[in-house]
Amino acid sequence: MTDAAPSVENVACALCGTQVPASTTQFVNGHATCPSCLAKVQAEIAGQKGTMLELPMALTGALAGAVAGAAVWAAIVVFTNFEVGYVAVLVGFLAGHGCKLGAGKARGQHLQIAAGVASVLGLVVAKYLIFAHFVRQQVMGDGATDVSWFDSFILEAFPGALAEMASPFDLLWIVLAVAAAYRVPAASTVTIQQR
Ligand SMILES: [Zn+2]
Repeated sequence: MTDAAPSVENVACALCGTQVPASTTQFVNGHATCPSCLAKVQAEIAGQKGTMLELPMALTGALAGAVAGAAVWAAIVVFTNFEVGYVAVLVGFLAGHGCKLGAGKARGQHLQIAAGVASVLGLVVAKYLIFAHFVRQQVMGDGATDVSWFDSFILEAFPGALAEMASPFDLLWIVLAVAAAYRVPAASTVTIQQR
Protein backbone atom coordinates (compact mmCIF):
# COMPACT_ATOMS: atom_id res chain seq x y z
CA MET A 1 0.00 0.00 0.00
CA THR A 2 2.24 2.79 -1.28
CA ASP A 3 -0.55 4.89 -2.79
CA ALA A 4 -0.63 8.21 -1.09
CA ALA A 5 -4.04 9.34 -2.23
CA PRO A 6 -7.01 7.09 -1.73
CA SER A 7 -8.57 6.35 -5.14
CA VAL A 8 -11.99 5.12 -6.05
CA GLU A 9 -11.72 2.16 -8.35
CA ASN A 10 -13.65 2.50 -11.56
CA VAL A 11 -14.66 0.10 -14.28
CA ALA A 12 -15.77 0.98 -17.79
CA CYS A 13 -19.45 0.62 -18.74
CA ALA A 14 -19.58 -2.36 -21.07
CA LEU A 15 -21.81 -0.44 -23.50
CA CYS A 16 -20.48 3.12 -23.67
CA GLY A 17 -17.17 3.02 -21.83
CA THR A 18 -18.13 5.63 -19.26
CA GLN A 19 -16.38 5.07 -15.97
CA VAL A 20 -18.63 3.67 -13.32
CA PRO A 21 -17.64 2.84 -9.74
CA ALA A 22 -16.42 -0.71 -9.33
CA SER A 23 -18.99 -1.02 -6.61
CA THR A 24 -21.77 -0.70 -9.21
CA THR A 25 -24.75 -2.92 -8.70
CA GLN A 26 -26.00 -2.80 -12.27
CA PHE A 27 -25.10 -5.51 -14.76
CA VAL A 28 -26.35 -6.32 -18.25
CA ASN A 29 -25.50 -9.85 -19.33
CA GLY A 30 -23.03 -9.92 -16.47
CA HIS A 31 -21.19 -6.73 -17.50
CA ALA A 32 -21.08 -3.58 -15.41
CA THR A 33 -23.28 -0.91 -16.96
CA CYS A 34 -23.79 2.80 -16.33
CA PRO A 35 -27.25 4.01 -15.28
CA SER A 36 -28.08 5.65 -18.63
CA CYS A 37 -27.15 2.54 -20.64
CA LEU A 38 -29.14 0.39 -18.25
CA ALA A 39 -32.17 2.64 -18.81
CA LYS A 40 -31.72 2.34 -22.60
CA VAL A 41 -31.52 -1.45 -22.41
CA GLN A 42 -34.61 -1.56 -20.21
CA ALA A 43 -36.51 0.68 -22.64
CA GLU A 44 -35.48 -1.53 -25.55
CA ILE A 45 -36.67 -4.67 -23.80
CA ALA A 46 -39.95 -2.97 -22.93
CA GLY A 47 -40.35 -1.99 -26.61
CA GLN A 48 -39.81 -5.59 -27.69
CA LYS A 49 -42.65 -6.86 -25.58
CA GLY A 50 -45.17 -6.80 -28.33
CA THR A 51 -48.86 -6.77 -27.90
CA MET A 52 -50.91 -8.82 -30.31
CA LEU A 53 -51.57 -5.58 -32.21
CA GLU A 54 -48.48 -5.88 -34.39
CA LEU A 55 -49.44 -9.41 -35.41
CA PRO A 56 -51.49 -8.55 -38.55
CA MET A 57 -48.68 -6.38 -39.96
CA ALA A 58 -46.07 -8.93 -38.93
CA LEU A 59 -48.02 -11.74 -40.58
CA THR A 60 -48.50 -9.65 -43.73
CA GLY A 61 -44.76 -9.01 -43.86
CA ALA A 62 -44.00 -12.66 -43.21
CA LEU A 63 -46.33 -13.81 -45.99
CA ALA A 64 -44.90 -11.25 -48.41
CA GLY A 65 -41.41 -12.51 -47.65
CA ALA A 66 -42.48 -16.15 -47.94
CA VAL A 67 -44.19 -15.56 -51.30
CA ALA A 68 -41.12 -13.70 -52.62
CA GLY A 69 -38.99 -16.68 -51.60
CA ALA A 70 -41.50 -19.05 -53.19
CA ALA A 71 -41.34 -17.11 -56.45
CA VAL A 72 -37.55 -17.41 -56.46
CA TRP A 73 -37.78 -21.15 -55.82
CA ALA A 74 -40.34 -21.63 -58.59
CA ALA A 75 -38.30 -19.50 -60.99
CA ILE A 76 -35.22 -21.65 -60.36
CA VAL A 77 -37.24 -24.80 -61.09
CA VAL A 78 -38.84 -23.29 -64.19
CA PHE A 79 -35.56 -22.01 -65.66
CA THR A 80 -33.26 -24.86 -64.68
CA ASN A 81 -35.76 -27.73 -64.58
CA PHE A 82 -34.08 -28.70 -61.35
CA GLU A 83 -35.67 -28.53 -57.93
CA VAL A 84 -33.21 -27.03 -55.49
CA GLY A 85 -34.77 -27.80 -52.14
CA TYR A 86 -32.29 -25.76 -50.15
CA VAL A 87 -34.02 -22.65 -51.48
CA ALA A 88 -36.46 -23.49 -48.67
CA VAL A 89 -33.96 -21.77 -46.38
CA LEU A 90 -34.40 -18.59 -48.41
CA VAL A 91 -38.20 -18.88 -48.10
CA GLY A 92 -37.85 -19.13 -44.33
CA PHE A 93 -35.26 -16.38 -44.13
CA LEU A 94 -37.41 -13.94 -46.12
CA ALA A 95 -40.51 -14.90 -44.11
CA GLY A 96 -38.60 -14.17 -40.90
CA HIS A 97 -37.31 -10.82 -42.09
CA GLY A 98 -40.69 -9.82 -43.53
CA CYS A 99 -42.18 -10.63 -40.15
CA LYS A 100 -39.55 -8.58 -38.34
CA LEU A 101 -40.10 -5.66 -40.68
CA GLY A 102 -43.88 -5.77 -40.19
CA ALA A 103 -43.59 -6.10 -36.42
CA GLY A 104 -41.71 -2.82 -35.92
CA LYS A 105 -39.76 -3.02 -32.68
CA ALA A 106 -41.66 -5.98 -31.32
CA ARG A 107 -39.97 -9.35 -30.97
CA GLY A 108 -41.05 -12.56 -29.39
CA GLN A 109 -42.35 -16.04 -29.71
CA HIS A 110 -45.73 -15.13 -31.22
CA LEU A 111 -43.84 -13.49 -34.08
CA GLN A 112 -41.50 -16.45 -34.42
CA ILE A 113 -44.51 -18.73 -34.78
CA ALA A 114 -46.10 -16.38 -37.33
CA ALA A 115 -42.88 -16.43 -39.38
CA GLY A 116 -42.71 -20.23 -39.18
CA VAL A 117 -46.31 -20.66 -40.32
CA ALA A 118 -45.79 -18.19 -43.18
CA SER A 119 -42.69 -20.05 -44.33
CA VAL A 120 -44.64 -23.32 -44.57
CA LEU A 121 -47.32 -21.54 -46.60
CA GLY A 122 -44.50 -20.17 -48.77
CA LEU A 123 -43.37 -23.72 -49.52
CA VAL A 124 -46.91 -24.65 -50.55
CA VAL A 125 -47.04 -21.56 -52.78
CA ALA A 126 -43.74 -22.62 -54.37
CA LYS A 127 -45.12 -26.10 -55.03
CA TYR A 128 -48.24 -24.55 -56.53
CA LEU A 129 -46.30 -22.26 -58.86
CA ILE A 130 -44.14 -25.16 -60.02
CA PHE A 131 -47.18 -27.39 -60.57
CA ALA A 132 -49.10 -24.64 -62.37
CA HIS A 133 -46.13 -23.93 -64.61
CA PHE A 134 -45.86 -27.52 -65.81
CA VAL A 135 -49.61 -27.94 -66.23
CA ARG A 136 -49.81 -24.74 -68.29
CA GLN A 137 -46.86 -25.83 -70.37
CA GLN A 138 -48.50 -29.15 -71.09
CA VAL A 139 -52.04 -28.01 -71.90
CA MET A 140 -50.80 -25.05 -73.92
CA GLY A 141 -48.54 -27.44 -75.80
CA ASP A 142 -51.65 -29.48 -76.49
CA GLY A 143 -53.19 -26.48 -78.20
CA ALA A 144 -55.04 -24.67 -75.42
CA THR A 145 -54.71 -20.95 -76.03
CA ASP A 146 -54.39 -19.22 -72.72
CA VAL A 147 -54.50 -20.91 -69.33
CA SER A 148 -54.32 -18.69 -66.25
CA TRP A 149 -51.85 -19.49 -63.47
CA PHE A 150 -54.91 -19.69 -61.25
CA ASP A 151 -57.18 -21.59 -63.61
CA SER A 152 -59.86 -23.45 -61.64
CA PHE A 153 -58.70 -26.67 -63.29
CA ILE A 154 -55.20 -26.20 -61.85
CA LEU A 155 -56.50 -25.08 -58.45
CA GLU A 156 -58.70 -28.17 -58.18
CA ALA A 157 -55.99 -30.58 -59.24
CA PHE A 158 -53.36 -29.07 -56.93
CA PRO A 159 -54.22 -30.69 -53.55
CA GLY A 160 -54.11 -34.18 -55.06
CA ALA A 161 -50.94 -33.36 -56.96
CA LEU A 162 -49.35 -31.96 -53.81
CA ALA A 163 -49.98 -35.22 -51.98
CA GLU A 164 -48.54 -37.12 -54.93
CA MET A 165 -45.48 -34.88 -55.25
CA ALA A 166 -44.73 -35.06 -51.52
CA SER A 167 -41.47 -36.77 -50.69
CA PRO A 168 -39.51 -37.30 -47.48
CA PHE A 169 -37.30 -34.46 -48.63
CA ASP A 170 -40.23 -32.07 -48.30
CA LEU A 171 -40.15 -32.70 -44.59
CA LEU A 172 -36.52 -31.61 -44.58
CA TRP A 173 -37.34 -28.43 -46.52
CA ILE A 174 -40.14 -27.65 -44.06
CA VAL A 175 -37.77 -28.08 -41.13
CA LEU A 176 -35.11 -25.90 -42.78
CA ALA A 177 -37.61 -23.19 -43.72
CA VAL A 178 -39.24 -23.07 -40.29
CA ALA A 179 -35.87 -23.08 -38.53
CA ALA A 180 -34.65 -20.19 -40.68
CA ALA A 181 -37.88 -18.22 -40.17
CA TYR A 182 -38.25 -18.92 -36.45
CA ARG A 183 -34.84 -17.55 -35.54
CA VAL A 184 -35.28 -14.07 -37.02
CA PRO A 185 -37.97 -12.32 -34.90
CA ALA A 186 -36.73 -13.76 -31.61
CA ALA A 187 -36.41 -11.48 -28.61
CA SER A 188 -32.83 -10.68 -27.69
CA THR A 189 -31.68 -12.51 -24.62
CA VAL A 190 -30.65 -9.88 -22.13
CA THR A 191 -30.38 -10.47 -18.43
CA ILE A 192 -30.31 -7.52 -16.12
CA GLN A 193 -28.94 -7.92 -12.65
CA GLN A 194 -29.12 -5.31 -10.00
CA ARG A 195 -27.30 -6.73 -7.07
ZN1 LIG B 1 -22.93 3.23 -20.47
